[in-house]
Amino acid sequence: MDTSMLEPGLYIVATPIGNLGDVTLRSAEVLAGCALIACEDTRVTGRLLHHLGLSKKMQRYDDHADAGARDRLLEAMEHQPVALVSDAGTPLISDPGYRLVRAAREAGIKVTSIPGPSALVTALTLAGLPTDRFLFAGFLPSKAKAREDALREFAALRATLVFYETGPRLVASLEAIAAVLAGREVAVARELTKLYEECRSGSAEDLIAHYREHPPRGEIVLLIGPPGEAGPPDADKIEAAMRAALAEMSPSQAASTVAKAHGLDRKTLYAQAMALKS
Ligand code: SAM
Repeated sequence: MDTSMLEPGLYIVATPIGNLGDVTLRSAEVLAGCALIACEDTRVTGRLLHHLGLSKKMQRYDDHADAGARDRLLEAMEHQPVALVSDAGTPLISDPGYRLVRAAREAGIKVTSIPGPSALVTALTLAGLPTDRFLFAGFLPSKAKAREDALREFAALRATLVFYETGPRLVASLEAIAAVLAGREVAVARELTKLYEECRSGSAEDLIAHYREHPPRGEIVLLIGPPGEAGPPDADKIEAAMRAALAEMSPSQAASTVAKAHGLDRKTLYAQAMALKS
């Protein structure tokens, strides 16, 4: 495409999250038609351009770039179509671009967004958790206390929680979920759109056991289902259910049955079952 066919302005262009075949027709057209591409890493974007048979002028950009770099991009957008891409997925979603978009809008520059892949939406569609209400909160903090505090802040929300995660930190995050959000269904969506794509769900405890055995590689989205419809468990109701179950089965079976029925932690219930039995 000839650059004269696109109006001057800022074009936010989503790119694949792993499988280059996911680049959209319009993303490819806009990249072909822009005069300059602002990107995170010229080598990564260079690979996509090579796949599309394009050769384009690129400029590195992140939101911590000095004001001079941002001003040069804004100046270019006044006269030419400029694309903004990130290494993968949708720019601005846990990626640079917010400051640039804000500055372009303030300067009265045309800004348009070319939608496409994002790991967040891909994971949500795959995990089998409710999608009618969700909260995306980027990466959880890396320090243990801050991570637990962040989870506590979201604990009462009736929404699926979605976080970006890394392999080395996955088990620590699952441990925090087990401690703070006991009983919730959790899903780990890994290497989406790539050869070893997987989406594994279960309790945080199940997933901890699995990923301790099989340290996760690659890129990860972590999802946590909303709290049960009934709200926080009613202690009297749980005790009554446990007594009824104990009348018919062993403490271990009673703990499993009540845990499943109420979405609660089996270990805690087993301790309660033993106490009631004695
Ligand atoms: N802007 C991107 C988007 O729209 O998805 C996200 C960029 S963020 C810096 C990178 C994180 O996104 C990774 O650490 C991982 O949590 C998630 N991610 C990106 N690609 C992924 C994939 N193919 N599978 C699973 N998670 C992915």
